[in-house]
Amino acid sequence: MDCIFCKIVRKEIPSSIVYEDRGSLAFLDISPLNKGHTLVIPKNHYETIADIPEKEIGELARVVRNVAIAVKKATGAPGINITQNNGRAAEQLVPHAHFHIIPRFGGDGIILSHLKKKYESGEMEKTRVKISEAID
Ligand code: AMP
Ligand code: ZN
Repeated sequence: MDCIFCKIVRKEIPSSIVYEDRGSLAFLDISPLNKGHTLVIPKNHYETIADIPEKEIGELARVVRNVAIAVKKATGAPGINITQNNGRAAEQLVPHAHFHIIPRFGGDGIILSHLKKKYESGEMEKTRVKISEAID
């Protein structure tokens, strides 16, 4: 499989691994938003979160939680963002599902809330119904 994260899983290319078990791997992001920015991936190649079997996501979520706690402790960051990009439109560049664990410091220049939008009248309820009905 010609996937950079699969190559990291197989140790064919170097990475800075912070945690590994049978199904998951966590390593430092090579271009961190802040120092200590860590990626958690399933060892199996799944492209997006929707491709990860339901029976495997619980274990991955457990690892994400534990690594997030460790990143916070090790960096001394007062806050942590956990993000996960799916698809090109969402800025997913590596097509192997991964969670970003980003240590956050006051005044670090990352301000996601500046990008928020507003609903028109009635649009929020329509959107709620559509999403609610789409859930399996
Ligand atoms: P995304 O945009 O969500 O697909 O994020 C992919 C992330 O993988 C980016 O933040 C990259 O900096 C990171 N990345 C790409 N190649 C490597 C690598 N060889 N080792 C560590 N991180 C990487
Ligand atoms: Zn892969």
